[in-house]
Amino acid sequence: MKTWEENIRRVIPYTPGEQPNQPDMIKLNTNENPYPPAPGVERILHGMNTDTLRLYPDPTAGELVHAAASCYHLDDSQVFAGVGSDDVLAMCFLTFFNGKKPILFPDITYSFYDVWADLFRIPYGRPPLDEDFHIRKEDYLRENGGIIFPNPNAPTGVEMPLEDIEEIIKENQDSIVIVDEAYVDFGAKSALPLIEKYDNMLVVQTLSKSRSLAGMRIGLAFGNPVLIKYLNDVKYSFNSYTMDRTALAAGAEALSDEAYFQETCSKIIETREWTKNELQKLGFSFEDSKANFIFAAHEACPAKELYQALREQHIYVRYFPKGRTSNHLRITIGTREEMEALLIFLKEYLSNR
Ligand code: PMP
Repeated sequence: MKTWEENIRRVIPYTPGEQPNQPDMIKLNTNENPYPPAPGVERILHGMNTDTLRLYPDPTAGELVHAAASCYHLDDSQVFAGVGSDDVLAMCFLTFFNGKKPILFPDITYSFYDVWADLFRIPYGRPPLDEDFHIRKEDYLRENGGIIFPNPNAPTGVEMPLEDIEEIIKENQDSIVIVDEAYVDFGAKSALPLIEKYDNMLVVQTLSKSRSLAGMRIGLAFGNPVLIKYLNDVKYSFNSYTMDRTALAAGAEALSDEAYFQETCSKIIETREWTKNELQKLGFSFEDSKANFIFAAHEACPAKELYQALREQHIYVRYFPKGRTSNHLRITIGTREEMEALLIFLKEYLSNR
């Protein structure tokens, strides 16, 4: 072994869901929004003056930060912006999870958390979800170096009641508690109002899901100005020009179109509820999901088999082969037509098996 090899930071990277590119595919594997972004986004991009690309973008991401603050009736000093919530969350881990005690997150959750913890050498504990895939609040009422969980949780879609979230924040005033609300706009209750009451919490959101901008990479953190300042200090120590000019303008536009946002979220929620019903009729079971996906297991057919059969039809869903999740499929909610096509295939496949 060469000496320099001892100096390498070795990591097992996060594996993102695949991005196949077939013209006839039905893509239900990475929780993207099936509808286009708000119509103004197209106008903004068409109207961009490419000459401005000579210049660095605003390092404060001011236009976007201001649009997010206005959208949620906050002050600009309560908002941080990053390159997707992955970037925002990574900055949060680096900034706030710097103690000796283990941070806590559920055993079944967003599979990037343990990757960041390993990357930044943060010790962690992973309290198991209960039998029904619910987070047990009591597991987070013990000593820790910080807490993070998504609400609704991923990949289960299960929402934690806001009272339980508040109790976790309240009982952990010596730690930072991060609520990852990537999927909150599909019907769960946001913890955002709690940032006015508690100075030890952050809410992280994304424009990738409910605002159809996964390809633009925009994430946000909301919290009290002291925490936002610490986040910015770390950001400026890493990469000060994180948000490019197109993302700043497109993101601000998407945040300003409340009517379109409400309309597309409602359509997804409606399709989700319809899909739940249909899946149940076919023998699937799942915990109630408040996200734009359903995490389902079939009573007779193994998830792996279904995943492969769907894949052959160019219908992509997500399958997590390890441990307690290995008999479930995570199915993103697409358009009503896409979900109908999925269900027609499943019905036929299961009855001919
Ligand atoms: N949090 C959770 C729980 C997620 O599922 C995802 C999507 N992979 C993210 C954060 C990151 O999303 P993005 O970087 O696109 O904002």
